[in-house]
Amino acid sequence: MDGAGPDLSLQEVEAVAAKIGPLETLLLSGGEPTLRNDLPEVVAAFFLSNRLRNVGLPTNGLLPERARLFTRRILELCPGMALDVNVSLDGVGAKHDAIRGVPGAFEKACETVRMVAELRQQCDRLRVNVSTVVFDANWRHLPELLDYVREHLDVNGHYVELLRGAPRDSRLALPPYRALRRINRLVLRNHLLYHGDAEKRRWPHETPYLRELHRWQERVLRGGRWPASCPAGREVAVIESDGRVRACELRGVVGDLRQSAYDLHAVLQSPEAAAERQTIVGTRCSCTHCVFLYEAFAVHGIPNERRRRWLERWLRLRGRLYRIFR
Ligand code: SF4
Repeated sequence: MDGAGPDLSLQEVEAVAAKIGPLETLLLSGGEPTLRNDLPEVVAAFFLSNRLRNVGLPTNGLLPERARLFTRRILELCPGMALDVNVSLDGVGAKHDAIRGVPGAFEKACETVRMVAELRQQCDRLRVNVSTVVFDANWRHLPELLDYVREHLDVNGHYVELLRGAPRDSRLALPPYRALRRINRLVLRNHLLYHGDAEKRRWPHETPYLRELHRWQERVLRGGRWPASCPAGREVAVIESDGRVRACELRGVVGDLRQSAYDLHAVLQSPEAAAERQTIVGTRCSCTHCVFLYEAFAVHGIPNERRRRWLERWLRLRGRLYRIFR
């Protein structure tokens, strides 16, 4: 993430990694992570110290050659680790360029997808995906974008997520609630087209998780709360590029690694972090942030999918019987 102070140096990142302990997944975030010259070494620091198994690397795709070089270097430095490169697309052609404010951005992003995807021939730990954030300016163009990506880009998946919580950029807003169910149906149908291909599948429970994600997000946008507590500040935390720590990027700073001997556990055990967790749980903090929703499913579990479908069928049948015998 963009921080207020200077970025942590590689030595500082190594100091942080040395104290974290086992870490399953690292999601890098932006700004644009590939602007950092030592990005492969940063990832390697976590791989070597924390037995890291998965890394998600988002990119705006404006620097195709750099993205390809960094991807190859990360795979070389981190043997056995799975890497997902997620190239952002907001629309097709001029629509993407207009949203990004960069002429030619769409072509460059597509070129990045093609160049990075070529590396999959040498390494089956690499997945290349398109990721799209849906907001009020682009949701109407989503069907066109989903079709374009499926037909023209050889990607492992196309991940579509709702704008997260209240964005810092006040020009962005969520699509209207009335559009949400339509968007979710479209996204699920598109997901199943990828998920049907076993080679492109990320994990087996992707589909039930996606259904649950849509249900929880719809609930939040209707004004409801999550049915379980958010794991922010416990199972997941956000480290900004300058070392400040938040429970999630939508909430306030709870500590600073530079002032805590680069010890994330010390920051998370501080009274500020404990108070933040208490507030998150006590207020049943709820938003549409898919990363934290997925983590909540992993922590709390989701209702058994088959049982849920049987229940839905039974309720539909009961409704029909009720109408017949009324
Ligand atoms: S629900 Fe979780 S991710 Fe969302 S704002 Fe609250 S603490 Fe952050």
